[in-house]
Amino acid sequence: MSAINGNTTVVGVIGDPISHTRSPAMHNAAIRSLGLNWVYVPFHVTPENLPSAVAGFRASGVRGINATIPHKEALIPLVDKMSPEAEFVGAINTLVFEEDGRIYGDNTDARGFLRAMEEVGFPSPKGSKVVVMGAGGASRAVVAALARAGASEIVVANRTASKAHRLADELSDRMGVTACGCGLDSAGLLKAAEGSALLVNTTSAGMHTHDALSLPDELFAPTMRVYDIIYAPPETPLLRQAANRGCQTLNGLGMLVHQGAIALELWSGKTAPVEVMRDALIESLA
Ligand code: NAP
Repeated sequence: MSAINGNTTVVGVIGDPISHTRSPAMHNAAIRSLGLNWVYVPFHVTPENLPSAVAGFRASGVRGINATIPHKEALIPLVDKMSPEAEFVGAINTLVFEEDGRIYGDNTDARGFLRAMEEVGFPSPKGSKVVVMGAGGASRAVVAALARAGASEIVVANRTASKAHRLADELSDRMGVTACGCGLDSAGLLKAAEGSALLVNTTSAGMHTHDALSLPDELFAPTMRVYDIIYAPPETPLLRQAANRGCQTLNGLGMLVHQGAIALELWSGKTAPVEVMRDALIESLA
């Protein structure tokens, strides 16, 4: 990183807590690689201070901010305009402070999810049936991405089935895609998933040894791709089960790298050095 001086541009991440964030490692590595006179800083912002923090960033010439828990939804009333993805997801993870003083809110998770798939050669979801497990915040980004990419049918499967039905109805109404909801019980899931090209896990089950999803082996047809957006551990029990059945698999590291890369591209107008960002992220997770 070049020495901080009077021309240094500040970007960063807000959260509460924030000390766990890996984003500074990933972004500062990219900033060094691009030779920018920039610095990416973590800011501990509590919910009650969010409006004044955003106003302060704008007033002091900060270029962009990433947001993590618990601020993603609360940023919505604080921006001047939003991307369609952020609107559907109902959450903002990236702010851009524009030169005319306006604040643009985006959600880069959806595009990050798709870019990571393309990178490993997963087929485009266009015209395919897909199953998405989970109906929380990450699921909203993933289903929005799949709908925009032209999936022909989206099955949302969730432990609390009512949430799956609600999200599927919203998908049909707002994005015009054929969608249905179901629970995570084996019989229901097997039936709903028949003929799917892609199975995505957006639940947090699998992050810890005791909480793995219990899914029947027959769910995993060898031609089906299986994408778990969890990145730690790199191989969840779901991905192990799918690989044992012969499925091509993908974890969430690429999505995390690409959502950050897209944010950096929005702020800088430059192509992000994705491999540099990935290496820095892997090192910070070790
Ligand atoms: P969230 O809004 O809290 O939603 C959690 C989801 O997981 C809900 O659908 C919940 O089902 C389900 N769930 C939790 N524990 C479960 C269990 N034991 N069995 C079955 N389902 C369970 O969380 P989120 O923000 O969507 O994040 C979900 C995961 O995505 C996290 O692991 C996060 O790290 C990961 N993620 C990764 C990236 C990336 O860039 N790779 C980005 C965002 C998120 P109920 O509705 O029934 O409670």
